[in-house]
Amino acid sequence: MTASPLRVGVLALQGDVREHLTVLASLGASPVVVRRPSDLEGLDGIILPGGESTTIGKLLGIFGLLEPLRAALASGLPAYGSCAGMILLSSKVLDGTPDQVLLGGIDVTVRRNAFGRQVDSFEGSVEWDGTGESVHGVFIRAPWVEDAGADVEVLARVPAGSPGAGSIVAVRQAALLATAFHPELTADARVHRHFLEIVRDASDAGAEPGTDQSGRQGSGT
Ligand code: GLN
Repeated sequence: MTASPLRVGVLALQGDVREHLTVLASLGASPVVVRRPSDLEGLDGIILPGGESTTIGKLLGIFGLLEPLRAALASGLPAYGSCAGMILLSSKVLDGTPDQVLLGGIDVTVRRNAFGRQVDSFEGSVEWDGTGESVHGVFIRAPWVEDAGADVEVLARVPAGSPGAGSIVAVRQAALLATAFHPELTADARVHRHFLEIVRDASDAGAEPGTDQSGRQGSGT
């Protein structure tokens, strides 16, 4: 049996939206552009792209998406945030603006633009999840995670020899995934594939007999 394609939204208020849509389509998911609250309906997961977290936060309010998206995340919608998206999914931000809006969900403190002015942007290989596998990390005025709660799984740190060596740059908590870097700007789709596995697991769990709200399961008629 072939599983139906996962409907994965990409928040499209600002930032590198198209790149995420392209990776999702290349992995067989069904990408959905999200600009309005109604676009959230029927999604299996959502990606929050990089850009400027302060601007995206303001636009979430203007477009009426802030509370609906918070509610969707709180009810278990899987999400992946890259860079500014990581900041949005964090519970606390350092060096943010006083009125900075966060969605929350991942129990971490992030520092905005953490790598400093001298090393605004850089690229380097990042070891993923203790597997010995490296992913190519593109960091653009990136945050890092300064403090992670007990329920947060640390997936990657900056390797020795790179700016900010040892800093946490990828985390997961339940169905929420975040990276400080931008895999969508590389040809390496492994982080997105990892996210789609999280989305698939969540969608399968929601579709188990007995939890199907349609009530059609096993009726036999
Ligand atoms: N520095 C940006 C911010 O604070 C993030 C940069 C990015 O997403 N590439 O939101």
